[in-house]
Amino acid sequence: MLAMPLAALALLALLAPPALSIGDEEAVERRRQALAWNDKGVERKAAGQLREAIEAFERALALCPTEATIASNLGRTWNDEGVRLLEKEGDVEGALAAFVQGGKHIPDDRTLRRNHALALDRRGRDKMKQRRFDEAAADFEQALALAPDEAQIAFSKCALFHAKEDFDTGEREAEKYTRTFPKEVEGWRLLSEIRYKKGEVKAAVEALEKAAELAPSRADVKSRLEELRQEAAVEGNYSPANSRHFQFQIPPNRRDQQALADLVAGILEDAYYRVGGELDFYPEGRTQVVFYEPKDFNAVTRADEWTGALFDGKIRVPIRDFSKQQDTLRNTLFHEYTHRVVSALAGTACPTWLNEGLAMMSEGRDVREAEARLKKAPRSVLDAQTLRGQWVGKLRSEQAQAAYDQALSMTSLLIEQRGRGPIATYLRSIGGVGAKAVPEAQAFEAAFRMTFAELLERWSMSMGFPKGE
Ligand SMILES: [Zn+2]
Repeated sequence: MLAMPLAALALLALLAPPALSIGDEEAVERRRQALAWNDKGVERKAAGQLREAIEAFERALALCPTEATIASNLGRTWNDEGVRLLEKEGDVEGALAAFVQGGKHIPDDRTLRRNHALALDRRGRDKMKQRRFDEAAADFEQALALAPDEAQIAFSKCALFHAKEDFDTGEREAEKYTRTFPKEVEGWRLLSEIRYKKGEVKAAVEALEKAAELAPSRADVKSRLEELRQEAAVEGNYSPANSRHFQFQIPPNRRDQQALADLVAGILEDAYYRVGGELDFYPEGRTQVVFYEPKDFNAVTRADEWTGALFDGKIRVPIRDFSKQQDTLRNTLFHEYTHRVVSALAGTACPTWLNEGLAMMSEGRDVREAEARLKKAPRSVLDAQTLRGQWVGKLRSEQAQAAYDQALSMTSLLIEQRGRGPIATYLRSIGGVGAKAVPEAQAFEAAFRMTFAELLERWSMSMGFPKGE
């Protein structure tokens, strides 16, 4: 994301007073006082005391309301106060109020308008992170009205469509952005990501190639481009199919292609409503689901050997003989779709055990079976830190079974004791949906009325394991 510095404004010198006719003694006195307050304001501002300066200029202006220079000094000092609040104190609301005050006195000043616009942009981006999309859109619109040529704000507007998964509008807006600001690397990156989310991998590669041309030394651009090219090599000749909420891609030349596509569409739409109902969230944009021949799955994902399928922004599934294993296909899609919804709500903040536990609950896995396996191998029980951290690339395949069993069992116990409602609340709270994100441990305790350590202890007891395991 681009970050534009805000600018301060210099004060104007007060011009010599116009000649006054005799008999205007009162006016002369008022003007003398106004000038004195104005001098005081200039002095306070030079000393960095912006609040005192504002007060002095306000007094001066009250005495001489038509004096344009005093009004201008007041507006400029409000501008500087806004810059200070935003940059030194991170007080976005205070800064906005200051720019509004300043705008009353110098409404056409370009620097103030731009600063005001950038403050609105900052507030809009905060709201976007909290998925308060309508409020973010209103801020960006107001910001663009103040500073129509500002690249950063135009970019934020495109990023909003990406965040709320309106990829069709987002692509149009991002294309417009790259035409208007063809040298902005971030615009090409965003266009590439939006096309990627639409399942247009080749077009995503083209956009990212522009970014790589503009910024040849950016390692993140380079590695993303390699990933996309790898995917394009495999998926480039796929032809995507849509259902209402999904776009899925099946390798060409499969005999059972149409039957598989119909089957997959039915399962996924079912998952959309069931998982959505459980977590009270229904994504706007189509979810991408890509099927692979097993060798291609490993080439694209470089997944651990124990990974059956995965979600990394797209749901990726290696093809087995699904005509004989429809239950496996159903379970796989429900599992990965749950990760998709959890990720939309909580970002990457959801602890792995709960993320996997919820995914397995959606599959309808047998909890008692998992617990029976664990009771036979109590030494394979994971500690708190491992439960919460990343598993991919960390667990050996023989550990993986026990880890998933424990995740399922603990999630089941949590739902048994607290119900499903708090889970949806917790995910939103750690993901910062609707409000600033809450630290995980604090959100856990608030939603479930116990700490994670307490849950782990209850679970150990319920399993008949000695304390501390
Ligand atoms: Zn999983």
